[in-house]
Amino acid sequence: MSTWPIGVFASIDAGLGVHLEVAQELGVPTIQVHAPHAGTRNPKAAADFLSRCSKAGITITAVFGGFEGESYADIATTAKTVGLVPEETRAARVKEMKEISDFTKLLNCDTVALHIGFVPHDTNSASYKDLIATTRDLLDHVAANGQKLHLETGQESAEHLLHFIADVQRPNLYINFDPANMILYGTGEPIDALKKVGKYVRSIHCKDAKWAAPDVRGTAWGQEVPLGDGDVGMETYLRTLKDIGYTGPLTIEREIPQDRERQKADIGHAVNLLTTLRKRILGT
Ligand code: MG
Repeated sequence: MSTWPIGVFASIDAGLGVHLEVAQELGVPTIQVHAPHAGTRNPKAAADFLSRCSKAGITITAVFGGFEGESYADIATTAKTVGLVPEETRAARVKEMKEISDFTKLLNCDTVALHIGFVPHDTNSASYKDLIATTRDLLDHVAANGQKLHLETGQESAEHLLHFIADVQRPNLYINFDPANMILYGTGEPIDALKKVGKYVRSIHCKDAKWAAPDVRGTAWGQEVPLGDGDVGMETYLRTLKDIGYTGPLTIEREIPQDRERQKADIGHAVNLLTTLRKRILGT
């Protein structure tokens, strides 16, 4: 694969991402996909989707897990409901994430990813220690499928994420870096964060956002906006990716599934912006 192929976040069935046809119409050669619901995670569904991708000349670069009951309504609800952190659903979700890893193998893809949730700050707590054990157990299953696990950024500061990865002590744990999430969640200046976690970054999102007002930053969402219109600074972001040696896909994420027309238009605009910046930075 060439350096920095454009990508887009897509869905196999319902979900936040665009449909495969949209990726195809936009001429995008790679996708990350949101894992389908349990009923659709079977060999036939995988073979059908792979065949559609292959006909469209599209490579699947990562499969994202998500779970029933997750809500991003506001930051407090996200902390309560998202990922492997909530204790009531932890066991069931890790089991489901293993099934998603198995489904990902059927898609011939070596990367699964997820929002793990708000990792507890008290690293001596029972909840943190159990989360470490749970993550190791998941990573061992993922490794047996020949895969890596990428943690989506945003819910932790760069330092906290590095601390967690060091504590897990597994060689197949990496990061999917999303600069807009650092702004949306108010967890840190994205370029600084990228430099800090750079050695673990194996996939990324191209998404943009504006900071919430300083008095509510970290408790109220920032605002997701079309690529190039926010506070990330896309050229600086791509130049920093080059500096850390990142050569993988530039996967565009635009989370407005309620407005499919605008989502497609914004992604088309993002493809053009990234193509221009890539030429300026890499000369190709
Ligand atoms: Mg993202």
